[in-house]
Order: sequence, then C-alpha cells, then structure tokens
Amino acid sequence: MEPLSEVGNRYAEPLLEVEDLRVEFRTRDGVARVLNGVSYHVSAGETLAVLGESGSGKSVTAQAVMGILDTPPAFVTGGSVRFHGEELLRAKPERRRAVRAEGIAMIFQDALSALNPVFTVGFQIEEQLRVRRGMSRADARTRAVELLDLVRIPHARQRVRDYPHQFSGGMRQRAMIAMSLALDPEVLIADEPTTALDVTVQAQIMDLLAEIQRERDMGLVLITHDLGVVAEVADRIVVMYAGRIVEQADAYSLFRAPGHPYTAALMRSLPHLESKGTRLDTIKGLPPSLLRIPSGCPFHPRCPRAESLCATEIPPPVALEPDRLSACHFAAEVVGRG
Ligand code: SF4
Repeated sequence: MEPLSEVGNRYAEPLLEVEDLRVEFRTRDGVARVLNGVSYHVSAGETLAVLGESGSGKSVTAQAVMGILDTPPAFVTGGSVRFHGEELLRAKPERRRAVRAEGIAMIFQDALSALNPVFTVGFQIEEQLRVRRGMSRADARTRAVELLDLVRIPHARQRVRDYPHQFSGGMRQRAMIAMSLALDPEVLIADEPTTALDVTVQAQIMDLLAEIQRERDMGLVLITHDLGVVAEVADRIVVMYAGRIVEQADAYSLFRAPGHPYTAALMRSLPHLESKGTRLDTIKGLPPSLLRIPSGCPFHPRCPRAESLCATEIPPPVALEPDRLSACHFAAEVVGRG
C-alpha cells in the first residue's frame, strides 16, 4: 500500500513532510493516543487544509511539527517530520528554534494570547529582525511598518507603536500574520486563524492569507474545522478523525465525491443555498475520547454505513485514484455516493 505521504503531488518537492507521526499524552487517567500515524506533506505554493472536529489531532500535529508540545504530558513516540528533507524530530534544540524562526512559522487562533501584551506590536516584529537578521533599530522599524502595511493595518506608521490591546480582533490577527512573515518563512501553519473573528473579518483574513501565500509562493497548512473555509482556498485536503487521517484528496475531487463516510457526513452538515429552511444533518454522537478510542475503525460508533467488520479491523488507507486515499473498508463503494 502506498504510504499517505507519497500520494500524488502536482507541486514541486515537498518542503514539509510529516510521516507516520505518533504522539501520546500520558495523563493520570491513562495514555491518550492523540496521533496514530499521521502523514502529510506540503510544497511551495500549495495550500493544504487539515480538516477535522476538535480533538481530531490537527493542532497537535502542528505543535509536534513546530516542536512546541509540552513534554510531559505529550511524547512523540514515532514517525518523522522533515523540512527540506532534514529530520527535525531528532534535531538539536537550537536547530529547531532556527527552523521555527525562519523556515516554518505558525499563527494561532487567539492572537491576544500569542502577542505579548507588555510590548508594542512594532517592537515584537522588530525584535525578531534585530536578533535573527542583525538589523539596526531604524531598519527594523522601517520593515515592521512595511509588514503592517502588507497586512493592511491602516496608518501603519502610527499603529506600529500601539500595544496589542489597542488593536481590534481582526487587526491583532493581521499583526500576528505580519509577525509570522517577518523572517520570510517558506511554510506557514495557520491554526484556526479566523475562528475567533466575525464572519466579515474572517473572509478578509482568509483573502489576505491566500494572497500572501500566492505572492510569496509559500506552503500554507491551514488547520480548520470549517469546511466552508476549506472550499475557498485549499488545493489539497486531509481529513482527520481520532488522531488518524481518514481521507486525503485534492479539493475538487473531495467536494465532488467524498470518499469516506466521515467526510460525507461533514459535507451534509454544511449549509447550502438549497438547504435554506430545512434542518441540517448533524453527525450523531460525539468524537471519541482519545483515552478510549473505539476498536476497529474509530468512526464506527457514529458511522451510518458501519458493518460488523468495522468494529474489529482498522481500515488501511485505500488508493481510490492516484491522488486520493480513504481509510474505509468500503471506500470504493462510498466514493460518489456520500
Ligand atoms: Fe464507516 Fe466502516 Fe468505513 Fe469506518 S470502515 S468509515 S465504520 S464503513
């Protein structure tokens, strides 16, 4: 069976490759197997959406890539994270810090807690440029203003002196994007970057991210639970459930014909123009506790298609087409029939 990380990619060599990543949280209540063999990759100029409900492992995967998991309780127990082919999981802490600063940047859902409240927004951008690039104070200030301009902070020259609490939620998210771009990363991981914002600002931030990604030819990993956001910007999509990737496909194929019952259920719960006035489908039950992942296919207690095999055997990823995989025993029957 072809490993997930090697499934077709029309882009150049991957910049970032995650392969068979395994993470567990050792807690007082037991061991939570949070990632159970996650593999994905992203190339320059590509937007990969990582989709799933909360607790599916999408943010933990990103934190493991960045090397910012809290150990304990989190332990990486297997797998590989490579940037330009270099293994990061076994790299020295200073090397990981360097990659985190200049190679792979991350923006978070909650800009208020990601920005330091006691320093001005400008200072927080300038500090990176002075420490990592050896820029003078004046040059760093000029660049900080340019970056705030780039993310469309009005009156950037004045606002660079403001503290994070003086910015609106949308502006703070823009400031965090500016900060993440300061050192020209090749990959940007955006973890639910618009969840805390109202709908209009969400759209503006997503447009901004997409534009910057195109202009800079960055690899963008967009973590979200929002299928609507994914539809707008993703080139490829991986769908996660209970710490596994259950489907991987290019965006067009996945929206045209989901190849996994979980993806199909997510799509049925998305509002459409035709569904106006009708009750939306919801997925029955709750995501499983990662302390007690169901046997066999972890989705089987909630799956409308489950058969007896599903409760006992973990479905391996099946290649439906060269560029897409589904981890369902009945993937070939599911695809196209939702
Ligand atoms: Fe549903 Fe079985 Fe497929 Fe899992 S393997 S998604 S339970 S049909």
